[in-house]
Amino acid sequence: MVKKLRVGWFSFTCCEDSTMIWIEMMNQRFFEWKSLLDIRHARVLKKKNSMRGLDVAFVEGAITNDADAKKLMQIRKNAKRVVAIGACAVNGMPAAQRNTFPPELKEEISFLLKRFKQADKVRMVKEVIPIDDEVQGCPMEEDVFLKVLDKYLKEFGVVNA
Ligand code: SF4
Repeated sequence: MVKKLRVGWFSFTCCEDSTMIWIEMMNQRFFEWKSLLDIRHARVLKKKNSMRGLDVAFVEGAITNDADAKKLMQIRKNAKRVVAIGACAVNGMPAAQRNTFPPELKEEISFLLKRFKQADKVRMVKEVIPIDDEVQGCPMEEDVFLKVLDKYLKEFGVVNA
């Protein structure tokens, strides 16, 4: 069997523009990536998804509630490497804007946090789990993403180092 990099793409709270960038990148790289990537989890691409046995998980967005934090921990357990994708995942902003609200505004939105089971504080990915890499940018910087992907294609023996 030809070795492919087993990857998953996950989006938490955000506008998902890095996902759009990734999909746009596929327009040019579809046949190249088809032979290199085994995309096991990407809800934007398919209905049947599995996060088991991933080599690399790409995680976009900030973590706004305990259920998402638990899911992120599951991803960490199932993936050998985790890469935070885009500013919201890497440093929380702009998705974490409500963390910076003054006390009176926090008070004003508190009923919404309760109603939608949201945590008091929005967290970046590395506040919940350890990460191996990050791709900055809002949305993500394409050339940095390609460098990170290339690094793992080599590390996992999919292409020659
Ligand atoms: S980093 Fe920017 S582009 Fe990416 S999800 Fe957040 S707001 Fe959207």
